[in-house]
Amino acid sequence: MEPKTIAFVGAGLSCAVLARELAERGGFRCVLFDRRPHLGGNCHTARDAETGVMVHTYGPHIFHTSNRAVWDYVNRFTEFGPFVNRVRAVTPRGIFSLPVNLMTLNQFFGKNMTPRQAEAFVRELGAPFRTGRERNFEEVALSLVGEELYRNFFHGYTKKQWGCEPSELPGAIIKRLPLRFTYRDDYYQDVYQGIPVHGYTPMIEGIASHPAIELRLGEGFARERAGEFDHVFWSGPIDACYGGRHGKLSYRTVHWTEERLDGDAQGTVCLNYTAEEVPFTRKIEYKHYTPWETHERTLVATEFSKATGPEDDPYYPIRSERDMAVLRHYVGEAREEKGISFLGRLGTYRYLDMHMVVEESLAFAARLGTEPADWPRFSVPEEKLFS
Ligand code: UDP
Repeated sequence: MEPKTIAFVGAGLSCAVLARELAERGGFRCVLFDRRPHLGGNCHTARDAETGVMVHTYGPHIFHTSNRAVWDYVNRFTEFGPFVNRVRAVTPRGIFSLPVNLMTLNQFFGKNMTPRQAEAFVRELGAPFRTGRERNFEEVALSLVGEELYRNFFHGYTKKQWGCEPSELPGAIIKRLPLRFTYRDDYYQDVYQGIPVHGYTPMIEGIASHPAIELRLGEGFARERAGEFDHVFWSGPIDACYGGRHGKLSYRTVHWTEERLDGDAQGTVCLNYTAEEVPFTRKIEYKHYTPWETHERTLVATEFSKATGPEDDPYYPIRSERDMAVLRHYVGEAREEKGISFLGRLGTYRYLDMHMVVEESLAFAARLGTEPADWPRFSVPEEKLFS
């Protein structure tokens, strides 16, 4: 029997994993399109020609998961170097450990608290702001940590990162950042953490390297071509798939200025600048992401955040109430249409980390029967798109 020909729009992690699963199953020919000339989407990495440092071209990515199956999966395609993410915040009151943990609390307030004392102390700080009706970022953050920590660690950074008042953002964003009453200062607290020794692009090349997978890099996918394929998996922005006819979904984008210097510029991977007056959000020193390498020179990227214009790459889905209303129109449209399914960060308009993308693509593949006509429209159940 002729294999079914499946187009994948976007050659990032979500499509690469899904294509690999279908390719291994047999009976499918998978064609991966990407308008960019490389694999990996926003996870792409490349060595900087001048310094030799591995750079995450579209911003730092640290792989972390507590799901053993996901960890085993990515380890099939690359060796991971040991890396645990530790971030510091440069605040108006000095440099502190982030996420807020017992070290941060004791140093920031000049105290010597035990975990239990710190928990009670922070609960008191948040008490005046707890109404039981906290919804937006500011309300939730204030109720969790109180005014002083909020002003020094969250308000300015969030305003810069998202370009709006924190009171206009969903409370869920703050939930990405843990609040800890121990000295544990790793950002993610996942069981498995690391960075591929040779970067993410070779890992994704490994995933996409299969006789039934064909790569069309540097080639955009014109929507009119869908009819040439038995099915299309779309990991680009869902609104772009429909020509934006129900309005645009909003995203933040990031851009960087780079400096190449001798030696060590900041002594660590990432310093967040939390003050509103500082125009950038963070400084990234890439060589510290590969502690198994030594480099005489260094590359520092200063990150700025702004609204996504027509020429910019979308990064962070904003998911304002208006966006979610717009999203409902596109989801409704997708539901009515056969032959196309959406996945990944942009395809499902959600704030996904790499491990979630791998997990979702593996689970999605497991839900796909042999007949493309029966394939679901989204990689996850629809209600997850709105939660
Ligand atoms: N955040 C903050 N101060 C910080 C770091 C993060 O207020 O120093 C807030 C900010 O709103 C950010 C959110 O917490 O968008 C989630 O942070 P995370 O580090 O997960 O962001 P990402 O990894 O996506 O850049």
